[in-house]
Amino acid sequence: MKDRYQVVVIGGGIVGCSVAYHLALLGTTDVAVIERRELTAGSTWHAAGGFHAINADTRIAALQKYTIGLYPQVEQESGRSVGLHMSGGIELAGTAERWRLLRSELAWHRMMGTDAYLLTAEEAAEMVPIVDPAGLFGALFDPEEGNLDPNGATHAYADAARNRGAEIVLHNRVLSLTATHGGGWSLETEQGPVSAEHVVNAGGLWARRVGRMVGVDHPLTPMLHHYLVTEDIPEVKAIEGDMPAVTDLEGFTYLQREGDGVLLGVYETHPKHWMPEGADWDFGMQLFPEDIERILPELTIGFERFPVLKDVGIKRWVYGAFTFTPDGNPLVGPVDGVPNYWAACGCMAGFSQCAGIGLALANWIVDGDPGYDVFGMDVARFGSYASDDTYLRETTAQFYARRFVMAYPNEELPAGRPLKTTPCYEDFVTLGARFTVNWGLEVPLYFAPSIDFEENDTLGRSNAEPIVAGEVEAVRTAAGAYEIAQYARYEVTGPGAERWLDHLLSSRLPAVGRIRLAPMLSEAGRLMGDLTVARLDEDRFWLTGSYYLQDWHERWFRAHLPASGVELRNVTEDRMGFSVSGPASREILERLVHEDVSNAAFPFLAVRRMDVGTTHAVVGRISLTGELGYEIVVPTDRHRQPLWPELLEAGSTHGLRPIGDRAVDCLRLEKGYGIWSAEFRQDGTPGASGLDRFVAFDKQGFVGREAALREREAGPRQRLVLLEVDAADADASMDEGIWLEDRRVGVVTSGAYGHHVKRSLALAYLETDVLQSSPELTLDVVGEKRTGRILPEPPYDPSSSRLRDVAPVR
Ligand SMILES: Cc1cc2nc3c(=O)[nH]c(=O)nc-3n(C[C@H](O)[C@H](O)[C@H](O)COP(=O)(O)OP(=O)(O)OC[C@H]3O[C@@H](n4cnc5c(N)ncnc54)[C@H](O)[C@@H]3O)c2cc1C
Repeated sequence: MKDRYQVVVIGGGIVGCSVAYHLALLGTTDVAVIERRELTAGSTWHAAGGFHAINADTRIAALQKYTIGLYPQVEQESGRSVGLHMSGGIELAGTAERWRLLRSELAWHRMMGTDAYLLTAEEAAEMVPIVDPAGLFGALFDPEEGNLDPNGATHAYADAARNRGAEIVLHNRVLSLTATHGGGWSLETEQGPVSAEHVVNAGGLWARRVGRMVGVDHPLTPMLHHYLVTEDIPEVKAIEGDMPAVTDLEGFTYLQREGDGVLLGVYETHPKHWMPEGADWDFGMQLFPEDIERILPELTIGFERFPVLKDVGIKRWVYGAFTFTPDGNPLVGPVDGVPNYWAACGCMAGFSQCAGIGLALANWIVDGDPGYDVFGMDVARFGSYASDDTYLRETTAQFYARRFVMAYPNEELPAGRPLKTTPCYEDFVTLGARFTVNWGLEVPLYFAPSIDFEENDTLGRSNAEPIVAGEVEAVRTAAGAYEIAQYARYEVTGPGAERWLDHLLSSRLPAVGRIRLAPMLSEAGRLMGDLTVARLDEDRFWLTGSYYLQDWHERWFRAHLPASGVELRNVTEDRMGFSVSGPASREILERLVHEDVSNAAFPFLAVRRMDVGTTHAVVGRISLTGELGYEIVVPTDRHRQPLWPELLEAGSTHGLRPIGDRAVDCLRLEKGYGIWSAEFRQDGTPGASGLDRFVAFDKQGFVGREAALREREAGPRQRLVLLEVDAADADASMDEGIWLEDRRVGVVTSGAYGHHVKRSLALAYLETDVLQSSPELTLDVVGEKRTGRILPEPPYDPSSSRLRDVAPVR
């Protein structure tokens, strides 16, 4: 071991070794993996080694595909076998709804470029003769599944990294980490002190403890997991070559070939946590005595689906621990306020994800940019709330227990809720609100007319749609009030504020009293935010962004903040309010203010301090619904009382209704407005998304300008368009492929039924050559082929006359 490295990776599991290899691939070879015992000595050594590409987040799925595709290269470079079996895998559907979902999943595979196909129950049982097909509706075969040897794969990564110059240091625990003045790290290890420019926490079962060495409490926790390995089974022995893995989606089990027997793993509905703070330092390569009693219900279902298991001996039980995060995806990337510390932990599917993590993290360390949209595994996607013990236990247990349970798109899951509520929560409950959750905050979805109303979980349109339609109509014909607690707000002040924001944002800054839409770009010209910037005074600005992006945005802001002259304050929790929009919104506001808020005095995109009712407020003339509208922002202690009742009272004679997220989503789609995480994402660009109309290309020196100019010159390859879809009982939602005959020409970013315009709508990225001809396109909506047509303009108020309150342009 040297006494100094550019990068030290703490942990020699599959993830740490992959990170080292990917750094070396990029030419960063002054890297050491420091491992407290042997390679694989955490969760890795006893894993089942199964892998698959499927993930609820399509971007993570693409990185899983990359992981699977990289094994032959690692094997070849290292000269070590990874024991790869590309057996393919079968998912079984035991209910009609699940079968419908698998048909929809097939379309997703097609969109991802995977040659998956459907099987009848009998065909599935032919492929895997120990499956009992009774009661099955069908199955889906995915060729990009399989299993490997966890030990071989880890050593292969380590050898390949070593061949490229990295060092692997064994039997050396990292004892402490201290930040140095130069921005690097000083490590105390069992074998002596080491310094490093960067440290990577790939500590697996110990990652929470390693995080605490630098004052970071990562939201991850170890949980226990069982699988069994059987003696030889004649039916398995008779299969030449690989046998597809099987996931019994109603049975909570997965099965794969292991020699001439099988391995059966169980995701039980009553999972068990283990050492939530992380394993003890002296925890070895240990297993726990199997606890069959605990997993008996799920095991019994497994034995029914694979009846031969009742008659075959069990060779061994493996009962070990691995880590989970609240949403089951890993924690990757830099942590705000802890320079040059990088997370690569919380990974529960190491053999599906190790290369994706390694690739993104190596890019990030070397280039300052992960190179992909990795928000789904970004350590910044959770706030500090997620490390709360109860929250972490409940959400990780929910994820574990529902690993194979079918999730409906409109289903609201209960774990860890309610965690954060706004002061109006109880009032909204009384008004019939049903809630969704945004970064731990309860947010109204819609307001049900009766306490007894229960929404049905469905793949199609739910019975809540008529309620949403009512809220949409209220906004289009009268007014709706929408709580805007779920917007993040940052106050930027100081003598350097203007200069800094002018550099950070790609738009021109507004004049005092005005608001602007302000795309924020990375150096590579990709989107980092769809912010609005309001200028309250010469040197006082408010930036508004997505609530759940707070840690992500603050990390970005701070990375670009000058040493002095600018003060950045997150005022999200200090300020709340309502967005009131609809044709009656001005009359409602006029009842509450003494100011002239006419179109002439208070035009579109104006912002002003004024008293609203009995409260000092900041009012912006802006709305996402496509109607005349105002955002009223007040100190949080004035939000519920007096603002809310005063607003209701003022609106009572004007048809004002409280509205929720679903109505807003429908209203913005009728106008073709994009939102973050759907149309606007980290892998998007201004040209493709249409946000280029807010970019001041002639402004010098803003972040991402060169790349944005290059895109403008070359023209984007894709463009965001609004489609009308011939849908029946279900609308497009996200990630549906769009086809022109057999060519995939686009992908849906969001969709909903437009209740006012009475059409099913979808926003989508389409390749630009398709746009010339406006052809009929095909979309897969919940497994059914639907026709989609490009709308040349939004179906509602295309000239935005209502938003601006001007005469319609004909
Ligand atoms: C029973 C079971 C079955 C599984 N089956 C599968 C499967 O089929 N497919 C799949 O993808 N995943 C499976 N997993 C999960 C898989 O094991 C993990 O996703 C993966 O091993 C995580 O790898 P890692 O490198 O992040 O962590 P780990 O393997 O835990 O590695 C972390 C390493 O860091 C070292 N370390 C920690 N702290 C320090 C320190 N301070 N100094 C030096 N070294 C340190 C540890 O010694 C350890 O070797 C299974 C897990 C279990 C328990």
